[in-house]
Amino acid sequence: MKNLKLVARQKAQRTTVNVSNIQIGRDFIVIAGPCSVESENQLLETARAVKAAGADMLRGGAFKPRTSPYDFQGLGIQGLKILEKAKQETGLPIVTEVVDPRDVTWVAEFADVLQIGTRNMQNFSLLKEVGRSGRPVLLKRGMHSTLVEWLNCAEYILSEGNPDVILCERGIRTFETYTRNTLDLSAVPAIKELSHLPIIIDPTHSTGRLSLIASMSMAAVAAGADGMIIEVHHKPAEALCDADQALTPDTFSSIMKRLRPLKSFLNDLPSD
Ligand code: PEP
Ligand code: MN
Repeated sequence: MKNLKLVARQKAQRTTVNVSNIQIGRDFIVIAGPCSVESENQLLETARAVKAAGADMLRGGAFKPRTSPYDFQGLGIQGLKILEKAKQETGLPIVTEVVDPRDVTWVAEFADVLQIGTRNMQNFSLLKEVGRSGRPVLLKRGMHSTLVEWLNCAEYILSEGNPDVILCERGIRTFETYTRNTLDLSAVPAIKELSHLPIIIDPTHSTGRLSLIASMSMAAVAAGADGMIIEVHHKPAEALCDADQALTPDTFSSIMKRLRPLKSFLNDLPSD
């Protein structure tokens, strides 16, 4: 803990990360979109749908870290250009993953927020590079990592001069196999005790099950998360990546209709 010089919370300190007019850490924000950018039509259709349902930002991977080298790896620069087009049309800021330190500078020209995936949480050269990128960073928790290991990775980014880090709890590996990972919801209040950085949750990769996403999204609001990142595809059955866990726009919209009222209800509860 003693080395968490910049990420540790001092008194009531809270950081707000600004992206366009969105204040992450103050408002409850929702980042939605497909696992990967597959085509212009797929992304634009999905972007229009998530915007209509009330999403604040658009997600979509152009570089996919896949378990098998034979799986779809993303469209690269072509994917980033498609994301740029979707941003121009919808106004939604872009969250996209970067996997290679050599790509950070030019990917940052397309991304409003650079995502570091679970598999790269401790890729220290990548962390240093995004720390110098001038872009906010969404740092996902390593699937085998403790809270302190995770916070040390955020410290790498802040120590390079970038204060804009958003943490994302995306589930950890446990003995349970029914869910893809185990969503550690206690990480939300625990991180808020330890750090001033905002924290969001990923109900998609943590559960890997469509039937659990709505409940876990509501639970994240109740736990005090600053937002969530969620996968939506305009035709989930045709998705090239994570097809089993992508929400249809209709299901996403119905979850959104419940989230904001729940947030207002919780805001009105007396605090202890
Ligand atoms: C993703 O969000 O696209 C992703 C690959 O997530 P994670 O790194 O959490 O597995
Ligand atoms: Mn995915």
